[in-house]
Amino acid sequence: MKVALLGYRGRVGSVLAPALEQAGHEVTGIGRGDPVEVEGVDAAVDFTRPDAVEANVAACLEQGVACVVGTSGADLSGLDAAARERSLPLLVVPNFAIGAVLMMRFAEEAARHLPSAEIVELHHETKLDAPSGTAKATAERLGGDVPIHSVRLPGVVAHQEVLLGGPGQLLTIRHDTLSREAFVPGVLLALGKLSALPPGLTVGLEAVL
Ligand code: NAP
Repeated sequence: MKVALLGYRGRVGSVLAPALEQAGHEVTGIGRGDPVEVEGVDAAVDFTRPDAVEANVAACLEQGVACVVGTSGADLSGLDAAARERSLPLLVVPNFAIGAVLMMRFAEEAARHLPSAEIVELHHETKLDAPSGTAKATAERLGGDVPIHSVRLPGVVAHQEVLLGGPGQLLTIRHDTLSREAFVPGVLLALGKLSALPPGLTVGLEAVL
């Protein structure tokens, strides 16, 4: 596929660009300040910033390009109509690490039996949004008012614990992203299945798992 990678110089982008090429995709990198010119590509992938992603995705959709979004901290539900109008899929994935998707699924299952839950998420100190997109998505899946504790420290990448308490017991479900290579298989999967998704906004990697 011809893929436009927005944010190709970033922490995720710089790992993703060579991995996409290795998987046989043709990658056009778009960085901050570059025009979003994507006509003719098969898909755009955005790993930029919460304050840039909406305009980027709107520009891609306008040019008839389907989008996969990893950038967190922005609400893209307003672009659902634009994607539908152009019959394009827009896949927004709070976490591309397969283990993190399983962590959310297991936590949802556990919360049916242990409804008192809290979430602790830990990320590198330069992450711009808090709570993380994964923590918010997990809380939504658990239902109710689940407190989220956000830790921002140097030395960590992306980690999340879901703690579920019951009388005399505590269940901890934890996922650790140790390097950004963890996101590569999920992005490849999303690109491979993108054209099979319905037009408009789809949220979560589970839609393509
Ligand atoms: P990062 O290192 O700050 O990289 C972001 C890159 O985007 C930088 O190279 C930045 O350029 C560039 N950029 C900024 N504005 C842009 C624009 N308008 N158009 C094109 N490029 C632009 O951040 P990161 O750690 O790679 O993370 C990127 C995003 O993905 C964050 O929102 C993060 O939370 C999210 N994320 C999601 C997942 C997931 O699984 N869904 C996993 C990891 C991270 P400058 O350096 O010049 O500003």
